[in-house]
Amino acid sequence: MKDSFGREIDYLRISITDRCNLRCRYCMPQGVDVKKAHSEILSFEEIAEIAEAAIGLGVRKIRLTGGEPLVRRGMPELCGMLSALPGLEELCVTTNGTLLSAACPFPSANAAIGHQSGIGGVTLAAALKDAGVTRLNISLDTLDPEKYTKITGGGRLEDVLLGLEAADAAGFTGTKINAVLIGGFNDSEIRDLAGLSTHRNIEVRFIELMPVGAAAGLGAGAFISSDEVLKALPELEELEPARLYRLPGAKGRVGIISPISCSFCGSCNRLRLTADGYIKPCLHSDREIKVRGLHSAELEEALRQAILSKPKEHGRLTPGHMTETKRSMNRIGG
Ligand code: SAM
Ligand code: SF4
Repeated sequence: MKDSFGREIDYLRISITDRCNLRCRYCMPQGVDVKKAHSEILSFEEIAEIAEAAIGLGVRKIRLTGGEPLVRRGMPELCGMLSALPGLEELCVTTNGTLLSAACPFPSANAAIGHQSGIGGVTLAAALKDAGVTRLNISLDTLDPEKYTKITGGGRLEDVLLGLEAADAAGFTGTKINAVLIGGFNDSEIRDLAGLSTHRNIEVRFIELMPVGAAAGLGAGAFISSDEVLKALPELEELEPARLYRLPGAKGRVGIISPISCSFCGSCNRLRLTADGYIKPCLHSDREIKVRGLHSAELEEALRQAILSKPKEHGRLTPGHMTETKRSMNRIGG
């Protein structure tokens, strides 16, 4: 369905948990997270009901995110429920990747064929593939093990790299790597991170840091414009204007996501569903519409109103100008 400004809204991002096994400094730093109780979080049945209603209004793509979606128990089961919904064309997952190579506790018979994890079970990556997930985005901001542990508040780089292998082994294609650019932290690694696309058919995407939640406290120096990627890699060949590039001879691609220096409100096609059951028509607005507890015609009407209340654009975002939203990224679903 179209919103009030003629944009076709066909994409729903669902945060399935506010919990995470990492503590990235710009998202959910140590000490500041207050977890929601399980009873406050939508059940799988509630998520599927809302997703089905959204599909009825024209949603064709769903992305599961969080927090870390893979820390939610039984997550492949939810993927199976969603991928079975008629009309859904794509089911994607954004993950920090650290659990993709872990053993799935309750694999289906299909996933058990040929996708063994390092410790003898079926990997979560294989279980997701089997449950109908079409594509993965894996977050990785640095290739330096010590820096990785520092930025993620204790994570291990090796776990993400194993996760990437597990995704490949499970048969995922078109995997994207999300790297948030942070001044003084990983701006010296643009070439190394982009290099991941040389021999693999993946897209390495450099994302501008948004002043949401903890990131707003990192100071103006933390914001790096995605123009820096073009400066660091003058040899990039443009595939799509100002968005998609390729290193000469590379198998994969390099993407640039510039929510700050080049807002994409004009082509925004998405709604967000928070883990506690609110629709956010715009990431940067405080407006939220409660859909938990609604069913059938009431649920459909609430979703319709959410689509119609999408703002034309959000206010100016600069490192000094905070977003309007009070939620942190792990509670919105980045
Ligand atoms: N835990 C999963 C992960 O890290 O991929 C999914 C949730 S995380 C909130 C989704 C994405 O949002 C990640 O790629 C993360 O780097 C990004 N992110 C978090 N805070 C951000 C911020 N302030 N600006 C830009 N991207 C941010
Ligand atoms: Fe967790 Fe993802 Fe936020 Fe990092 S960016 S703290 S992995 S939710």
